[in-house]
Amino acid sequence: MADIDKEKVAARLRERAQEIETRRKQIGAGENDQRDAELADYDQHPADQGSETFEQELDETTLAILDAEAKDVAEAQKRLEEGTYGTCIDGGEEIPAERLEAIPEALRCIEHQRIYDGQLRARGGPLL
Ligand SMILES: [Zn+2]
Repeated sequence: MADIDKEKVAARLRERAQEIETRRKQIGAGENDQRDAELADYDQHPADQGSETFEQELDETTLAILDAEAKDVAEAQKRLEEGTYGTCIDGGEEIPAERLEAIPEALRCIEHQRIYDGQLRARGGPLL
């Protein structure tokens, strides 16, 4: 790993892990109460229930994406410790610095990420 400031990357990965945890809690806890309150309102308006279901599905999708991101962050932290951070997990080539700058938990080069995303999509998994 060429020009990687391990301390800086470790700090960014910790930040990412915290962000993900915060967003998970927001979806998991606070918004459920809000949703129940809204549902009670909607009892009088059956036609509006479609959008409630949609919001719930959206939350579930978001949670699935957050789970996948949390896994990537944990994997990136592990690879940082092992000294393999910054190389593509599929092809072994170096991930461009600007990509790591934008997405510190990136495990793949753009090319292999595209292939991986395509396979996830085919299985109906979460999109990143
Ligand atoms: Zn690659």
